[in-house]
Amino acid sequence: MSTEILKDIICPQCGEAQKYRLFASINAQENPELKQQALEETVFDWRCQRCNYFAAMAYPFLYMDPQARYVICVTPGGGGQAAEPTEAVEDFVKRRVKNLAELKEKILIFDSGLDDVAVEVVKNALCTIIKNKYTANRVHAYFSRVQEGNMEFAIFVPGQPEPAYHSTRMEVYQQSQEVLRTLDFLDPPGFATIDARLARGIIEQYQAT
Ligand SMILES: [Zn+2]
Repeated sequence: MSTEILKDIICPQCGEAQKYRLFASINAQENPELKQQALEETVFDWRCQRCNYFAAMAYPFLYMDPQARYVICVTPGGGGQAAEPTEAVEDFVKRRVKNLAELKEKILIFDSGLDDVAVEVVKNALCTIIKNKYTANRVHAYFSRVQEGNMEFAIFVPGQPEPAYHSTRMEVYQQSQEVLRTLDFLDPPGFATIDARLARGIIEQYQAT
């Protein structure tokens, strides 16, 4: 079940005492409306009922989908310890992310029935192409969906206000799965961080074989 905590806060703009609803955990099955908020990246949002002041907080919480059997530990900023997995989620896929954008991406990946490690390997290849195209050092790609046999990604390039959308054929994903099979890749224990850095390590290891 989802666990919510009500906290008293004072609106920093008008001074009105109010409640702020925090979630220690979100259960996507029991609270589809909270899953929707996660997908809209609005879980942390708070609005003053008196003066309409808006603030986005940041705090750690667990997002779990018992039916799809995964649990994601959100630790804003990446600091602090990830939660210890309980026995109930021992055989779930366990991930750790540092913001709501990453949480949203994981949900979209797992809801599409994909392996996020292979998706990161695809993103690694895609980002290399994009970096050359835009002569940018850092680009961020987020999985968005599978459409007509293609994987679609939103690419954020520094200095560009809007994301660019790129797609890649599913064969690239299948090749990435093959890379992981060749390396006998196993999920790291506990809440694993599956990101661009991990993908780079996998590619380096693969090229060295
Ligand atoms: Zn207010």
